Amino acid sequence: MDHFGFKQGEIYAEDLPVSKIAADVGTPFYCYSTETLIRHYNVFCAAFSDQDFLLCYAVKANTNQAIIKTLAQQGSGADVVSEGELRRALQAGIPARKIVYSGVAKTEQEMAFALNQGIFQFNVESQPELHQLSRIAESLGKTAAIAFRINPDVDAKTHAKISTGKSENKFGIPLSRAREIYAEAAKLPGIRVQGVDLHIGSQLTDLEPFAEAFRRIVTLVEDLRTDGHEITVLDLGGGLGIPYDRATTKPPLPTEYGEMAKKIVGHLGCKIIIEPGRLLVGNAGILVSKVIYIKQGEGRKFLIIDAAMNDLVRPSMYDAYHEIVAVKQNDANLSTYDIVGPVCETGDTFARDRELPELESGDLVVIRSAGAYGAVMSSTYNTRRLIPEVLVKGGEYAIVRPRPSYEEIIGLDSLPTWME
Ligand SMILES: *Cc1c(COP(=O)(O)O)cnc(C)c1O
Repeated sequence: MDHFGFKQGEIYAEDLPVSKIAADVGTPFYCYSTETLIRHYNVFCAAFSDQDFLLCYAVKANTNQAIIKTLAQQGSGADVVSEGELRRALQAGIPARKIVYSGVAKTEQEMAFALNQGIFQFNVESQPELHQLSRIAESLGKTAAIAFRINPDVDAKTHAKISTGKSENKFGIPLSRAREIYAEAAKLPGIRVQGVDLHIGSQLTDLEPFAEAFRRIVTLVEDLRTDGHEITVLDLGGGLGIPYDRATTKPPLPTEYGEMAKKIVGHLGCKIIIEPGRLLVGNAGILVSKVIYIKQGEGRKFLIIDAAMNDLVRPSMYDAYHEIVAVKQNDANLSTYDIVGPVCETGDTFARDRELPELESGDLVVIRSAGAYGAVMSSTYNTRRLIPEVLVKGGEYAIVRPRPSYEEIIGLDSLPTWME
């Protein structure tokens, strides 16, 4: 559920008409709803309320300080995949003791920074990483609390580019080698083994792949305990999908996910961590755009809008579906459009063959479910300015990232001295 509904014939963001924000801020822009974010956070926490539980928001889904801080104020932890994200999480007020650090390529400098901050856990993805972490922790006189990210070799049945838990993916340590690597870690200086971690992919719309992966992990935890390791933390990763197309997709609810997870892993008595990204922020954001032209092609009608693939890359990168709706309801006849942006690539297409009421140049449209992997993946391709981000709370809104000026963008380049 989100807080971008119709009132008096037009879309509101909580208590504000989207058209009013558009008039103030200009299009295109991202618009986020505080209420929706908090609701999603609370639904997850309620699903695990009877457990020792920590939600670590996967900040890569949306790294805006205002978004992270909204969740931090609810008590959220963070899952980060780079020093930059770690710095963002800390700056937004998430304490280091609630931060887990994932990713296949942590560098020496990143490890040192995280060790000095005292983060809760490193999710280690390979043997070379383990040895490097041990070396750096020892040299700093610190101990790194670790979990290994285990690759359980299950098919997440999601888009190939966001599937991470198959043996051919670059992520994690194969289940078959886990006991050997835990034994190795237990002997290393600067390392304290505390948990097991997994993350099998993103936008999963079925519970079974999660369940299968969790069952495999339970067996591993039992084996590791037999081997003498004290396993107290179980990090189940993120990945629960959202209904991008509400007519056809009904992903499991966080409550159902929680019930399933507790049934399978609850008896282990571990602290349970989950790392949702998309589910927290995806439907808490929309992209608001304006129609520039309507172009009648041969046999196709193009709705050319002022947002483009550089603002929201998911349709061209993952063939992703996003609902697109007119901001103002009208009784005009429906028309079938291909909805495209201004960038000079055929891939700059948000949707094909969509029915919308007849629109005119200047009308506003909303691309729904754009809060996750939207702004964070944007670029200035075609020297288009990054679009502003707006956060709404009740009847108020704030610009939480302004639109840069052309001077700022071009000014990032510098000329070699021989051209001066
Ligand atoms: C991306 C990622 C997540 C979040 O995935 P969502 O599908 O957005 O929930 C969690 N953990 C790790 C390690 C990730 O890489």
